[in-house]
Amino acid sequence: MPDGENVAALDVTLHTIDGLVLVEFEPLELSRTNSDAAPMSFATRVQPDYYAIIKKTVTRLQLAITLQQFCQVLADEVSLLSGMERVIIYKFHADQHGEVVAESLLGDQPPWLGLHYPAEDIPKPARDMFAKTWIRPVPDTNVALAEMTPLLNADTGKPLDMTHCALRGVSLLYTEYLKNMGVLAGLTMALRRGNELWGLITCHHYSGPRAVPYQLRAACEFLAQVGSLQLQAVEDRENAAYRIKLEEVNQQLLTMAAQEGGLASITDGQPSLLGAMHASGAALFHRDRWWRLGQTPDEIQLEGLAAWLMAHLHTNSLTDSVYATESLVADYPPAAAFSHVASGLLVAPLSYSGQNLIMWFRPEVIQTVNWGGDPHDKPMVSSPFGIRRMPRRSFERFTESVRHHAFPWLQVEIDAAARLRSLIMELVIVRAERMAGLNADLARSNEELDAFAYVASHDLKEPLRGIHKYAHQLMEAASGDEEEKRRLNGLMRLTLRMDTLLDSLLHFSRVGREDLTLEKIDLNDVLADAIEMVSSRTSDSRKQIAAPRPLPQIVGDRVRVREVLVNLLSNGLKYNDKENKRVEVGFIEAHESSLRSNFPESSNGHTVYYVRDNGIGIAPRHFEQVFKIFKRLHGREEYGGGAGAGLTIVKKLVERHRGQVWPAVGAEDSTGSTGSTFFFTLNAMDEN
Ligand code: ADP
Repeated sequence: MPDGENVAALDVTLHTIDGLVLVEFEPLELSRTNSDAAPMSFATRVQPDYYAIIKKTVTRLQLAITLQQFCQVLADEVSLLSGMERVIIYKFHADQHGEVVAESLLGDQPPWLGLHYPAEDIPKPARDMFAKTWIRPVPDTNVALAEMTPLLNADTGKPLDMTHCALRGVSLLYTEYLKNMGVLAGLTMALRRGNELWGLITCHHYSGPRAVPYQLRAACEFLAQVGSLQLQAVEDRENAAYRIKLEEVNQQLLTMAAQEGGLASITDGQPSLLGAMHASGAALFHRDRWWRLGQTPDEIQLEGLAAWLMAHLHTNSLTDSVYATESLVADYPPAAAFSHVASGLLVAPLSYSGQNLIMWFRPEVIQTVNWGGDPHDKPMVSSPFGIRRMPRRSFERFTESVRHHAFPWLQVEIDAAARLRSLIMELVIVRAERMAGLNADLARSNEELDAFAYVASHDLKEPLRGIHKYAHQLMEAASGDEEEKRRLNGLMRLTLRMDTLLDSLLHFSRVGREDLTLEKIDLNDVLADAIEMVSSRTSDSRKQIAAPRPLPQIVGDRVRVREVLVNLLSNGLKYNDKENKRVEVGFIEAHESSLRSNFPESSNGHTVYYVRDNGIGIAPRHFEQVFKIFKRLHGREEYGGGAGAGLTIVKKLVERHRGQVWPAVGAEDSTGSTGSTFFFTLNAMDEN
């Protein structure tokens, strides 16, 4: 062996292929930035401790929580290890276009972080090569390629397979691209997820050529392999975190939907439908209307889309699952008009009829990402492989491939939509069951109450008649004792009062039990009858009952509606201490009633009738009590007495007409008068 002092140290690599042994000799030097530098001699050779370096790097990689952090650590570590001036992590998306997801820069080169590149940017042969090899160095872009001699193997007649040769030259086209960008040396490594090429670690050097010796290359290659192995774990971890976040928000949405605001609150509450899902807009179709948030198609476009969707889901038997597309136009061409906001669509149908839908939207990818080079304007792409001109046809192909496309929906997102769908459907079913149960209970207890009231009032009348009769007989047979007569008188008065109460109760129970005779009635006629009945009962001449404008025709039970009016009119006159007693009967049209904020919600969209008096009024704290049976706000004999059942019967009758009755203070309606107003609705027609 010659004297070590005078001999350049070499790395020798040996591998076999097609029955041949290939031996490669490389000078052992870290860099050729200084061309005058003497080759490193065998004796001065100092090996960095790559094992220790890699060990530290792997620890740092393991600490990364998000994929973004992981890629950044990887770029930084490769930069430290290789000394290359630009190191980028280039990720392939599902549609094969690429994105620079991390970058480590040593010089003042313009950053590429966040740029996207069309799939054609990295040609298929390059991708295929990185599926087989881990690393490809270009030590000097200005060095001319040396020709193989012989070109063909004399034994096999085939060219030598140099896939695994470190010293193999790269395509002239590629070095040309690199040179265009001022890159003097490059190094590229594969990043794989399982057997798939996930992305690349690409290194560029600008200040001079840079040879990466075997040991360092091996360390880089090892790093790429470790990175590839951990990538899956990080991606899985990130997916799991996203899945958890989506589920968390789903649960919160469900809680909100179960509360008072109902399903619509998932569009404007905190969180909303966009709380976790990576989408730029969402819409809910519920109770015949749209609720939109973020960027969505307009309502007319949504109507069309929903109609198509229902037909599409039915034809393809998809009504019990979610529908996801990254290019809606492909399925539904009219979507071209709004592909800038909704190229991607994820739909969770909440009912088989299509009456309830949740949709998430994603915009056209071309609008949202920062393309390295303008894919619309000019067929020019600056890429990790250089700025290059794309052939017109492949450029058009590229534009076509990204046009009307959104980023695809991830499986976790599709799963989350399906989960929200089933949670909400369960809620709706549970709620419907509960409501049905409550209604049945209510109907049963109402029936029982009516039956009880009937039995009680009917059966009690009999013994009461007996008591009255005996009291009468005792009265007739009584001696002259005044005290005894007073007591017997009291007994007879009480039996009469009880009789009145029982009559009211009996009447009340009948009101609840007897069928209504629904017909078209003219309220003006009914009011005229009611006024006549009320007038005949009171002698007071200074009273005025008026309707400021003719009342409408409605569907109702003539006798029962008249009873409602008679009760309210007579109360208006009875509880009135004015010289001139006035009662007004009128109505508020359906479209106006919705605008009254103090009206109950159930009255919205219905004609609201009212009976207003200028009497003594009712304090709001008694509003509930006046409808309770036998409840009077006054002493037994005050204001002409009464059983305290009138308003209870009014309420029952109104409710049997599917309406609602509620009182207000007279001034409520801005007439400035005191007194009371009773509002009520009669919606019996809705039953038909
Ligand atoms: P009654 O008139 O037989 O006592 P109601 O059920 O009709 O029974 O009314 C219950 C109570 O509500 C009445 O005792 C009265 O105190 C009060 N009330 C009813 N209508 C009016 C009114 N228009 N103005 C003031 N108070 C009223």
